[in-house]
Amino acid sequence: MQEKRRGMLVVVSGPSGTGKGTLCNMLLEQDPSLRFSVSVTTRKRRDYEVEGVHYYFVTDEQYDALLQEDALLEHATVHANRYGTPRKPIEDLMEQGLNVILDIDPQGARTVISKCPDCVSIFILPPSYEALEKRLHTRNTEKPEEITRRLNNAKGEIEQMDHYQYVVVNGEGEDGKQLAFNRLQAILEAEKQRTNRYFPVIE
Ligand code: ADP
Ligand code: 5GP
Repeated sequence: MQEKRRGMLVVVSGPSGTGKGTLCNMLLEQDPSLRFSVSVTTRKRRDYEVEGVHYYFVTDEQYDALLQEDALLEHATVHANRYGTPRKPIEDLMEQGLNVILDIDPQGARTVISKCPDCVSIFILPPSYEALEKRLHTRNTEKPEEITRRLNNAKGEIEQMDHYQYVVVNGEGEDGKQLAFNRLQAILEAEKQRTNRYFPVIE
């Protein structure tokens, strides 16, 4: 049997601290057809972050130049920093039949959903606001006032959940995470079999 595939664009979004990065990493480790879309950001690099792996860290001037060149599929100011999705790498990967996963904020997700109607859009919901707050504290990457800012944004973001095709609750602890991961896997496996992306030819 011969088969051809068209790459799929997967948009994963939700409030900061809900577990998007954690779940995306689990998917990327398990699925060789998936690639991560590395964003550009003007945010300061965290100690553990690697240039070109987690983000491309750019100056405001470099970011402005990318906007001028229309090099970003979407861009947004998130919690006082600027973030954007480079367009060209996504197009190249999808042309090779690979599936690309975007971990982006809800503003950016709305742009991608409207510009790319074929994309698969998934909202990751925390099990409670209390759990979300705990996750942001446990991650220990933001100062308390920044955590408060992210929590304040969360309610409005959650209200917009119905713009997505799918919602997955990332429940508390290992079991909750595993169940969310299993559901994400099931969504992606089903979406890969759509006739507009999968073209098997039998003898
Ligand atoms: P996001 O990418 O959405 O901002 P992260 O993936 O960085 O969120 O997760 C935020 C914190 O929550 C991290 O410390 C992560 O280890 C933790 N976490 C992720 N999923 C769960 C879960 N199901 N239960 C408890 N903690 C979780
Ligand atoms: P962090 O600073 O914690 O890495 O990310 C903050 C938020 O920015 C997260 O919600 C993350 O999903 C989002 N984000 C990361 N990259 C992009 C991007 O390219 N575009 C948009 N719109 N949001 C992004």
